[in-house]
Amino acid sequence: DEQFQMRQRLNRNLCRIEHKILVMSGKGGVGKSTTALNLALALAAEDKAVGLLDVDLHGPSLPTMLGMSDQRPQMGEEGILPLDFQGLRVMSIGFLLESRDQAMIMRGPMKHGAIQQFLADVAWGPLDVLVIDCPPGTGDEPLSAAQLLGEGAGAVIVTTPQDVALVDVEKSVSFARQLKMNIIGVIENMAGFVCPHCNEVTDLFGRGGGERLAGRMDIPFLGRIPLDPRLVQSGDSGRPFLLEHADSIAAEALRHVARSA
Ligand code: ADP
Repeated sequence: DEQFQMRQRLNRNLCRIEHKILVMSGKGGVGKSTTALNLALALAAEDKAVGLLDVDLHGPSLPTMLGMSDQRPQMGEEGILPLDFQGLRVMSIGFLLESRDQAMIMRGPMKHGAIQQFLADVAWGPLDVLVIDCPPGTGDEPLSAAQLLGEGAGAVIVTTPQDVALVDVEKSVSFARQLKMNIIGVIENMAGFVCPHCNEVTDLFGRGGGERLAGRMDIPFLGRIPLDPRLVQSGDSGRPFLLEHADSIAAEALRHVARSA
């Protein structure tokens, strides 16, 4: 039947993907999507075959960040073809919807169906890594994604120095533990401010919170990415930061995180 066939397509697809990494955060605005994109780019720069899937069904930001909002995926023989961004294979609900309002009316079962389709019916091809950008929290989307990916999928949790004490991060960690995911670690984003004039890093919110939190929860700490105003411009312009400002402190931090993951 239909469900069985879907399962088969899903398994066939997932078998060809070596590592699956779910990028999560306790709450919105901590730079999860930015981190997911630049992480994927950093991995691709190491000659890995990388896919990036945006399952943030209510606010898909990937098309904008890549300057690809007008593009639409084509159908290939093996399914929906991911779009190409400088070698990165990307897919987002934003590429498929007629309007932004369309996603707003999706309820739980529809969301699950959409995520299932992204994993089963997109022709990802063989990949070293699939990075999946989840909406914040531990709701429907990360749950569907984690369940469909199966035990052992990786989880990277993004937080900021202000939030590390909050229960949000702990919720993400216990979510990942309950679903028997492999917790790759915590990234502290917006950690310190890089002066655009002298490149000096100022710690606005103290230092080491993310690391202490990771230690307390017994999970790896992957590194800190400083606040860099150019990251905002890159996000809005469709020219990803890692490529535009490859020699910045923040880009080096992102590459470090990619190597640790
Ligand atoms: P989330 O996915 O967690 O909601 P985003 O990745 O959309 O967060 O980031 C929220 C905003 O913060 C965006 O405008 C983004 O460009 C900006 N941003 C993210 N990380 C940094 C950083 N390290 N330095 C400066 N701005 C950042």
